[in-house]
Amino acid sequence: MTGMDNRFRELAQTVPIPRPWDLPTYLNAVAAHRGRTITLLPVDTAILAGTGCGTGSGLWIAKHDSDVIAYGADTTEWHAEHIIVHELGHMLLGHGAESSRTEKSPTQTYAAIAGLLPSISPESIAHVLGRSDYESTRERDAETFADLVMLQAMRPQRRESLLHKTFFRDRR
Ligand SMILES: [Zn+2]
Repeated sequence: MTGMDNRFRELAQTVPIPRPWDLPTYLNAVAAHRGRTITLLPVDTAILAGTGCGTGSGLWIAKHDSDVIAYGADTTEWHAEHIIVHELGHMLLGHGAESSRTEKSPTQTYAAIAGLLPSISPESIAHVLGRSDYESTRERDAETFADLVMLQAMRPQRRESLLHKTFFRDRR
């Protein structure tokens, strides 16, 4: 876990987590860092069942020159953001197709995805990174990454937390 903590600290320096938290700002920062635009595609969680990773509700679709994150949107805002940040974690942690060890029959998968998500044409897809593309370590790391980002996002501003600490110290 310490390894992931360090990794997270490095990544938070390279791509700062917005304070106050704002997902679109963070998405733009990750996109700028990678030099590829990221589009969000809200879908029914049921569509991604069996394909999506993490809790089964997120899917990173790498197109030739941009990325799409499909996510189950029929949930709370916090959970939806957690799913999206989990996928961003895969991107930032370098869990892309070039480092993936599995080689499936892509055409079939892409056709299936395109069938589920009509706004995406099979020809535009370079890779789809779903559940079966990740080893459990990568899944765990992406989940830890999302946990840490969301924790940071929910944390009160530094100033407030300092006041908070002072308040409790004085009361002892
Ligand atoms: Zn994942």
